[in-house]
Amino acid sequence: MAKVVCVLYDDPVTGFPPKYARDDIPAITEYADGQTAPTPSSIDFTPGALLGSVSGELGLRKFLEDAGHELVVTSDKDGADSVLDRELPDADIVISQPFWPAYMTAERIDKAKNLKMIVTAGIGSDHTDLQAAMDKGVTVAEVTFCNSISVAEHVVMMILSQVRNYLPSYGWVVKGGWNIADCVERSYDLEGMNVGTVAAGRIGLAVLRRLKPFEVKLHYYDKHRLPKDVEEELGLTFHPDVESMVKVCDVVTINCPLHPETEHLFDDEMIGKMKRGSYLINTARGKIADRDAVVRALESGQLAGYAGDVWFPQPAPKDHPWRTMPHHGMTPHISGTSLSAQTRYAAGTREILESYFAGTPIRDEYLIVEGGKLAGVGAHSYTAGNATKGSEEAEEFRKSG
Ligand code: NDP
Repeated sequence: MAKVVCVLYDDPVTGFPPKYARDDIPAITEYADGQTAPTPSSIDFTPGALLGSVSGELGLRKFLEDAGHELVVTSDKDGADSVLDRELPDADIVISQPFWPAYMTAERIDKAKNLKMIVTAGIGSDHTDLQAAMDKGVTVAEVTFCNSISVAEHVVMMILSQVRNYLPSYGWVVKGGWNIADCVERSYDLEGMNVGTVAAGRIGLAVLRRLKPFEVKLHYYDKHRLPKDVEEELGLTFHPDVESMVKVCDVVTINCPLHPETEHLFDDEMIGKMKRGSYLINTARGKIADRDAVVRALESGQLAGYAGDVWFPQPAPKDHPWRTMPHHGMTPHISGTSLSAQTRYAAGTREILESYFAGTPIRDEYLIVEGGKLAGVGAHSYTAGNATKGSEEAEEFRKSG
C-alpha cells in the first residue's frame, strides 16, 4: 500500500466550499492537437469544484483510501520543520501543483527513501530537480495540455490589459475618479503591433491563434519550426533566435518551460535588445526572467509593462520587488488553475495514479522522467539539470506571517 503526500494551496480565507459563481463548466474531451482530455476510470468530484486547495484534495481521497492507500494533504511545504518534510521519509508518491509547488530538491529526494513518483497536477515540473529524479530513478509525470488553453486565455488578457492600461483605469473608478487623461496617457491599441512568442508549443501556438483576429503581426521563436501550413495560416514570421525576434516586437510573451537553457533568458542584456516601451508577458516561469533586471527596465522605461503570474520562489516573499514595481500587472500564480483547469488536472492526476497502481504504462505525453532519463514529452521539451536552486527562499513567505 502506498503513502501519497499531496501538497495543495490553502483554502479560501472566506471558507470552504466556496459559493460558486456558476453551476457548470463546458465538458472538454479533446484538445486542439487531437490528444484526449484525461480518461480516469471515474471521478469522485463535481466538475467545476474547487479541487486545488487543501479541502478539495484533488478529489483523490475516496479513490486512494478505498484501495487501501494513505493520503496526506497539506499546504505546509517549506522549511525543514514543514509537514512535507516530516512526511517525506516514507512517502511513495508526492503530488503538488506549480501554483504552490513542493520544491523537490536533491536533498528532499534523497530524504524520501521510498519515493517512486512525483506528479505535477498541472504542467511544468521545474519545481522538481529533474537531474536528481533521474539519478534516483524517480518517475516524474505531469498532466500535459490540461491547462494550456487556460494560460493562453490569460496571456491574451494580460497583453490587452497592459497595452490598453486597463488596471490603472479600473483603479481610478474604484477610487471614485473620472480621470480620463490619467487613464489614457499610457493606453494604446494592440492593432498593428508586432507580437512575438518565445516558444510555440501548446500554449504559445494557442496564444498565436487567439491573437490572429486582432490583426497584429505575429512572430515566434522555437527550437523546432512549426509546419509550413500553420505558419501560412497564421501569417507567422519565424526567427532563428530570441534576440532577432525581440528587436522587432512591441509585445513579447514567454511560453517555454524553465530548464537550464531558459533560466534568466530575459536578463539586462536581452531586455536591452527589446524595443523601448515593449511589454513583456511571462506566464511561463518566474526564473526565465531576471527579477531585478525586470524592475530596472520598468523603472527606466525600457519596458512599458510587465505582466504575468509566475514568480520565484512561490509563494513570493511579501517584499518581492515585483509586488511594487511600476507598470506591472502581476497576479499570484493562477492562470492554470481556473476551476475549469482543475477539473482536468485532477482527473489527469487520477489517471496517472490509476496507471501507476495498475502497473500499466503512463501515457507518453504525461511522462517527464522515467527509468533514469528524460522521457515522453519531457525528452522533447526539457534539458537535463536542476532549476530548483534558491527555492528555500519560499520559506520567507511563511515566516513573514
Ligand atoms: P509545451 O511542451 O507544449 O511547449 C513548450 C515549448 O517550449 C515547446 O514548443 C518547446 O520546444 C519550447 N522550448 C523548449 N525549450 C525552449 C527554448 N530554450 N527556447 C524556446 N523554446 C523552447 O508546453 P506548454 O505550452 O503546455 O507549456 C509551456 C510552459 O508554460 C510550461 O513548461 C510551464 O512552465 C508553463 N505553464 C504555466 C502555467 C501557469 O499556470 N502559468 C500552466 C501551464 C504551463 P520544442 O518542443 O519545439 O522542443
